[in-house]
This record gives sequence, structure tokens and C-alpha cells, in this order.
Amino acid sequence: MAKKRIVLTFPPELVDQPIIYRLVKDYDLVPNILRAQVTPKEEGKMVLELEGGKEGINKGLKYLEDIKVDVQPLAKDIKLDEQECTSCGACIAVCSPKALSMNKESWKLEFDRDRCLLCGLCVPACPLGVIQVEFD
Ligand code: SF4
Ligand code: SF4
Repeated sequence: MAKKRIVLTFPPELVDQPIIYRLVKDYDLVPNILRAQVTPKEEGKMVLELEGGKEGINKGLKYLEDIKVDVQPLAKDIKLDEQECTSCGACIAVCSPKALSMNKESWKLEFDRDRCLLCGLCVPACPLGVIQVEFD
């Protein structure tokens, strides 16, 4: 048995589709949802651990890509260098779970680790390169 941890981004038209059920039924996979943010008619994100045979995992990933679900490897951790951050706000727009936000009193960037889906999208958005991602 193999395991793979991934981040899925669903376009709005797929949010209410039984995709997880298909992974179980068609590819004999055991999905463990680690975190999810799914809102009807909006883009959805899910952090998922897939367990199953290697072939089943590969076929399941191919199925996801074929139906236009974006699949990224799961970042293990996000590190933000608060000393170097200038609170420019450029990373906030790409963070749909709102883990990154601006404190309107101090005008400093705030990072709410509990909301973070570890998707890694903020890393390339920072012009100073002060956000880093660590992979398994
Ligand atoms: S990795 Fe970055 S963009 Fe993704 S949820 Fe966490 S803080 Fe937001
Ligand atoms: S883009 Fe980089 S420098 Fe700007 S607020 Fe985000 S982490 Fe800080």
C-alpha cells in the first residue's frame, strides 16, 4: 500500500460533484480529508491523503487531472520570516482560506496557521521571497 498527500483545487462547476466517491469506488483508494474549504458555486480546496495501490493512486490522479482538478503535492509546512516581511500585502490576494491578512490597526501581515491549507500558493506571490515551503 502507498500513501500520497496532495492539495486539490476544484473549479466552481466541480465543487458539488462526487469526486471523492469516485476515487473510492473506481480506484479503490482510501481518501483521508485533512482540511477542506468547499463553498457552493465557488472554487474549492481540499488537502487529502490518498491510500491505496500505486497503480490506483496513479490512475486516481490522472482522473483528477482529466476532469480539470488542479493537483499539487502537499507542503509539509509554511515558514514566514516575519523580520524580513515588509507587510506589502502581495501574498494576501492568493490566499483564499484567508490565512494571510492585514491587521488594520498595525498594518502588519498576520498569518493564521489554523486556516492555512498548506497549498503553497503564497510562496511565488511574495516579491521578497520571505515565505518558504518545506515538503515531505
Ligand atoms: S500556503 Fe499560503 S496561500 Fe496557501 S493557505 Fe497557507 S498561507 Fe494561504
Ligand atoms: S508578499 Fe511577502 S513581504 Fe509582502 S506581506 Fe506577504 S510575506 Fe510579507
